[in-house]
Amino acid sequence: MLTRLHKAGYEAYLVGGGVRDLLLGLHPKDFDVATNASPEQVREQFRNCRLIGRRFRLAHVFFGREIIEVATFRAHHDQSEGEGEGQMENGLILRDNVFGTLEDDAWRRDFRVNALYYNIADFSLVDFTGGLQDLQNRELHIIGDPETRFREDPVRMLRAVRFAAKLDFSLEPQMAGVIGEQAERLSDVPAARLFEEVLKLFMHGQALRTFELLREYQLFKYLFAETDELLDSHGAYLDPFIRQAMINTDERVQANKPVTPAYLFAVLLWGPVRKRVERLQNKMPVLDALRIAGDKVVRAMMQQVTLPKRFSLPMREIWQLQARLEMRRGQRAYRLLENRRFRAAYDFMLLREQVGEPIRELCDWWTEFQTADETTRQQLVRSLPGNPSRRRRRPKKKSAARPATVDGNK
Ligand code: ATP
Ligand code: MG
Repeated sequence: MLTRLHKAGYEAYLVGGGVRDLLLGLHPKDFDVATNASPEQVREQFRNCRLIGRRFRLAHVFFGREIIEVATFRAHHDQSEGEGEGQMENGLILRDNVFGTLEDDAWRRDFRVNALYYNIADFSLVDFTGGLQDLQNRELHIIGDPETRFREDPVRMLRAVRFAAKLDFSLEPQMAGVIGEQAERLSDVPAARLFEEVLKLFMHGQALRTFELLREYQLFKYLFAETDELLDSHGAYLDPFIRQAMINTDERVQANKPVTPAYLFAVLLWGPVRKRVERLQNKMPVLDALRIAGDKVVRAMMQQVTLPKRFSLPMREIWQLQARLEMRRGQRAYRLLENRRFRAAYDFMLLREQVGEPIRELCDWWTEFQTADETTRQQLVRSLPGNPSRRRRRPKKKSAARPATVDGNK
């Protein structure tokens, strides 16, 4: 990849997370390439290439299942060049598409450890900003003046926390101070962009630490406002609940098992859902209460962070299933087992139990039911409290084959 560009007469460097993680002995998630070739010139070199991006044009080059992002050297977008159209009055960068030199490209990046370039031509490392030193000191420094850089792009505050957690680095103190002061700038960031960053926050294997730092620097409330409030007022249940989910997620990531972001969102928003369900529950059946509560919480969330349907639907199913898992008579338990969110909902229920909800029996019942043979399963269903099992043994004429429909249990 790098060689191909190099042979065609272009400069090409590996940059960003790939270089940083390799130097730290971590497994890079993906590789980014910086080059002096324009996106069109990159496309001429690779058949399996697509040009993407609105904010900045990039080339995506596909190698089997891997995508390598190839970006042309960019310069920091200066207000004077673009007649101000690239920046809004509060300093937020809207467009960032001015091509530049390698050095320009380094200085417009976010953190010094993210601006290290590996040169394929002579296998050297290029470090304009001091990133190598930071790798040694395990300290995250922003490039340039923290206040300016966070004003340009408040998402960098989230990135700071993510990298500090993921790499186990400390935050350079002056920058950390600025994050504490400027957190509210996150409310200027479009909800769709925040969603992309939130996804990355909890999937890198150090979700728990990320959560702690987000709370410490008051960033969490700009992502999950209601949850943040409840953590302050009703933390005794919610805090261990979220922490345990983060611990489980980190274990899965570290064991290379897949994690579903919808599950994490379901966890992060469970507090507000539960609060609303409690209020609605004596006015209506619990499934309705859950549905209405879920709707409201998702709608409120969308004001801050866009949740695409592919996340919000499974998330709502997981909440609904918390009530349905209690409804096990007749064929219901069998049907629930077939539900494609069963596993996530079951894990979610265990989590609730772990932080003290009195649902131990329910959890044990399901744990047993899943692996039991057919005879034991029937016994388990029959053993449910309040089950009119005697009636079941005298089948009525028509309904014998479908006991669940005549049971009418909730
Ligand atoms: P990860 O391991 O999460 O992929 P990464 O450092 O590669 O970490 P990316 O989001 O993939 O992060 O971005 C690639 C590189 O682009 C970064 O290393 C950084 O140099 C630059 N970059 C990304 N986002 C910003 C930003 N908001 N401001 C300035 N530079 C950025
Ligand atoms: Mg990357």
